[in-house]
Amino acid sequence: MKILNNKVAIITGASSGIGRSTALLFAKEGAKLVLGARRGDKLEALVSEIINNGGEAVYLAGNVQDELYAKDLVTLAINKYKRLDIAFNNAGTIGIVDDIQNISLKDWNDTLATNLTSGFLAAKYQVPVMNKGASLIFTSSFVGNSVGLPQLSAYAASKAGIIGLTKALASECAPLEIRVNSILPGGVETPMRVKAAPEEEQVEFLKSLHAQKRLSSPSEIAQAALFLASDASSFSTGTSMLVDGGLSISKV
Ligand code: NAP
Repeated sequence: MKILNNKVAIITGASSGIGRSTALLFAKEGAKLVLGARRGDKLEALVSEIINNGGEAVYLAGNVQDELYAKDLVTLAINKYKRLDIAFNNAGTIGIVDDIQNISLKDWNDTLATNLTSGFLAAKYQVPVMNKGASLIFTSSFVGNSVGLPQLSAYAASKAGIIGLTKALASECAPLEIRVNSILPGGVETPMRVKAAPEEEQVEFLKSLHAQKRLSSPSEIAQAALFLASDASSFSTGTSMLVDGGLSISKV
């Protein structure tokens, strides 16, 4: 029996990294998928790969900053598959990386719009149509919780905001029997990692922050998303689940 048999899931940030890996895993476990990101060519290729492997998926390209896009993803799920059981609101950007005095309000707002306001917009349209037993998952970060890193104030604030959103929404949605959780990855080997830490010595520093002294693969984060999406996590709500190779308990 597949773990997500016949469940319908929206996954954002599906064109790359954690979202792409999660889409492949959820499809393998029987979920029907609505995939989102800006790059339609990447989504189209992923949908073809899933269908060729016997899965079901459609995509809609757009920007998670846009309220209409959040609404349209939900409409597509309902029109195509008639229900919504899982939402993995995972799209994100490292955004502006600079000392605080150099950050423009525009760049600050842009980072928060992609990483935090997108979560509000997604949940606003997802919650009203979700079934009892549904699971809503956000991707936060160790940077929003365990450590402070220089030049990442906008990113850190956005990811800390997601943790607050998760708790408030979990409380609000408990009477609806909808669970709300977030995942806090440590360093993950994705294009975002390359953008955030392009130099070899930066990668070594990042690895050294983790007790396990390595980064995770996207598929290790996808497994955490699978747990939170599935009925196996039926008593988990309001959690900010660390999947960080022991970063938060590490003495560097
Ligand atoms: P990634 O490979 O760069 O993927 C980011 C995804 O988000 C892409 O699919 C991208 O698609 C999408 N995206 C970005 N901005 C968007 C926008 N404005 N509208 C729609 N889609 C947008 O990075 P990743 O590491 O998998 O990141 C996934 C999540 O994990 C993010 O929320 C990130 O903050 C979080 N995270 C990552 C790490 C790490 O070390 N990698 C650690 C902790 C948390 P398009 O470019 O096609 O739009």
